[in-house]
Amino acid sequence: MDEIKISNLEVFGHHGVYAEENTLGQKFLVTARLFTDTKKAGKTDALEDSIDYGDVCRIIKQVMEEQNYKLLETVAEKVAQCLLCTYPSLEGLQLEIKKPWAPIMLPIDTVSVVIERSWHTLCLSIGSNLGNRKEHLDYGVERLRQNPMIRRLRVSTYLETEPYGYTEQPRFLNACIVCQTLLSPMEVLELAHAIEGERNRTREVHWGPRTLDLDILFYDDAVIEEETLTIPHPEMELRQFVLEPLAELVPGYRNPANGKTVRQMLTELGKKG
Ligand code: ADP
Ligand code: MG
Repeated sequence: MDEIKISNLEVFGHHGVYAEENTLGQKFLVTARLFTDTKKAGKTDALEDSIDYGDVCRIIKQVMEEQNYKLLETVAEKVAQCLLCTYPSLEGLQLEIKKPWAPIMLPIDTVSVVIERSWHTLCLSIGSNLGNRKEHLDYGVERLRQNPMIRRLRVSTYLETEPYGYTEQPRFLNACIVCQTLLSPMEVLELAHAIEGERNRTREVHWGPRTLDLDILFYDDAVIEEETLTIPHPEMELRQFVLEPLAELVPGYRNPANGKTVRQMLTELGKKG
């Protein structure tokens, strides 16, 4: 990926653990590597097609002056988030914040924190078979769309499907969502649970009736096997109601657990009947 690099932007701020740092303030140096495709701007020679680094510098300065934090880690996190949410063409960044005058009473050149943050591709499945199913799905989609840590959200058509697993229950309305997110997989799971809770989702029967179910299918090409979170979703290959709407959005997405594309998994499931 191309990058635009800003080196050692000087900002006077009041961040630090010590009271003197908060009252007297000190110099910070910010280096930002902005990962973005510069090809279009390189052809058109138009500033609108690129990221204005002057603007970026002003935003960094503003974020670092409007509030004081104890840790450089927090300062870096706030700056990164603000820049990633401001520029649609910014895919990721590396940020270094240096504190050359860190008051540690020992001779050092500088101390700094370096972080890398980027937008991740997220695929979700959403379903409901209790109450006003369409309204529950719309609610879930809208809640995700409103989250500043989510962008470029696309939704498949809503599909009416027969219940799976525990079959003595009403028919489902299912769909898939593909978006980009700054949240970690665990943060996405927490958000999904919070949104389900807002629709009074209860868990009485496993695979039983539910107002709203939000499952994580893919997160980039991550393979995660933790007690409360498995990605890619392990049941995906067996579920027509997941693969069909997902194939509408990202047919060529490759499942990192088995190397098969969504389209391929859907075809193979069809053959099995
Ligand atoms: P299900 O979706 O299988 O019908 P639940 O929605 O009740 O059942 O989820 C049960 C648990 O599954 C959740 O509490 C969550 O911790 C866990 N889980 C594991 N992997 C995933 C995933 N990829 N997406 C969503 N939940 C997951
Ligand atoms: Mg679930």
